[in-house]
Amino acid sequence: GKQPVRIAVTGASGQIGYQLLFRIASGSMLGPDQPVILQCLELPQAMNALKGVSMELDDCAFPLLKGIVQTDDPNRAFAGADYALLVGARPRSKGMERGDLLKANAEIFSVQGKALDKNANKDTLRVLVVGNPANTNALIAARNAPSIDPKRFSAMTRLDHNRGLAQLAEKTGSSVTDIEKFCIWGNHSATQYPDINFGSINGKSLTSIINDDEWVKKNFIPTVQQRGAAIIAARGLSSAASAASAAIDHMRDWTYGTNGQWTSMAIYSEGEYGADKGLYFSYPVIVSPNGKYEIVKGLQLDQFSKERFEKTRAELVEEMTAIKELLP
Ligand code: NDP
Repeated sequence: GKQPVRIAVTGASGQIGYQLLFRIASGSMLGPDQPVILQCLELPQAMNALKGVSMELDDCAFPLLKGIVQTDDPNRAFAGADYALLVGARPRSKGMERGDLLKANAEIFSVQGKALDKNANKDTLRVLVVGNPANTNALIAARNAPSIDPKRFSAMTRLDHNRGLAQLAEKTGSSVTDIEKFCIWGNHSATQYPDINFGSINGKSLTSIINDDEWVKKNFIPTVQQRGAAIIAARGLSSAASAASAAIDHMRDWTYGTNGQWTSMAIYSEGEYGADKGLYFSYPVIVSPNGKYEIVKGLQLDQFSKERFEKTRAELVEEMTAIKELLP
C-alpha cells in the first residue's frame, strides 16, 4: 500500500478542526487508499481539548489513521508535513479594530511560515489557510517561508464557491455538478466577487438560463457574500462543518485534479487579470490530474465585473499595507 502522508492541522480542537480531522482520517480528503498521520497544533490552553479530540479519533478506529501528533510546538506539528491546513487564527474580539486583528494574525502566521520553512516536506507541501483574514495570512506565511515555492501556499475560497453553486443549483432547478465555469474572484471576505458570467449548464449560458440580472446583483451576489453572517444568525455559531467540507474539497482537488472543471482557489498572483503580483487572490483554476493548478486564461471581464474585481483587489492591497512592516 501507499506510505502515509503527514497532514498538519492548526487550531485542531476548534470548531472547524473538530469537523475536519474526522473527515481527513476517514479518507474523504485523499481517498480510501491513502494512509494519513495527523499532526495537530493547538495553543497550550487548548491542549486538553485536543487530547479529547484525539481520544475520539482513536475511538473511530479509522483504518487509514496511522498516527496522531498532539503538540503546541509548530516545529513538531510541521515536521515532514506534506499538507498543512492552517485553521487556527485569532478571532475578532469585541472592540478590536480590523488593523489589530490583522496584526495579531500576522504574528501567528509569521511564526508558522518560519516553522514550515524549517520543517515541512518542501517537495510535496500544500498549504491551505482557512483562518481569517485568510488571503493575507497566506501571504504572511509564504513570505516567512522563503525556501518554499509561494505557489505551494493557498487560501480558501472554496466555501464561497460551493455556496455559489448551491444557490445557482436551487435557482435553476439543476444539480450542483451540472454547473460549469462559475468562480470567485479576490478576497475571502464580503468584497469577494462571485462571477456567473462565464457559467453554463449543458453548454447553455447561466446568464441566459437565469435571465434575471436583478436577481444576480441584488440577491445572488449578496447572499454568497454574506452567507457566513446568515449562518451565525441562524445557528448562533459560525459555519464549521461546511468550512471543513470545503477545505477537504480544496485539498482533494489540488491533489487529484478537477477533471477539467473550474474551481476557485486563492493563490499566489503573478499579476493575472491585473491583481497585484504577490497577493493571494482567488481565481478560477483548473487542476490537472498530477496536482498542478492553472489559472483560467483569456477571460473578458465586463464593466460590472471589473468594478467588483477592483473593489476586492483594493481591499487586499489595503490588508497587505496594514501589515507591511511586519513582513520580512
Ligand atoms: P473556528 O474553528 O470556528 O474557525 C477557525 C478560523 O477559520 C477562524 O479564523 C475563522 O474565521 C476561519 N474561517 C474561515 N472561513 C470560515 C467560515 N466559512 N466559517 C467559519 N470560520 C471560517 O474557530 P475556533 O475558535 O472554534 O477554533 C480556533 C482554534 O484555533 C482554537 O482551538 C484555538 O485554540 C486555536 N488557535 C490556534 C492558534 C495557533 O495554533 N497558533 C492561534 C489561534 C487560535 P472568523 O474568525 O472570521 O470566523
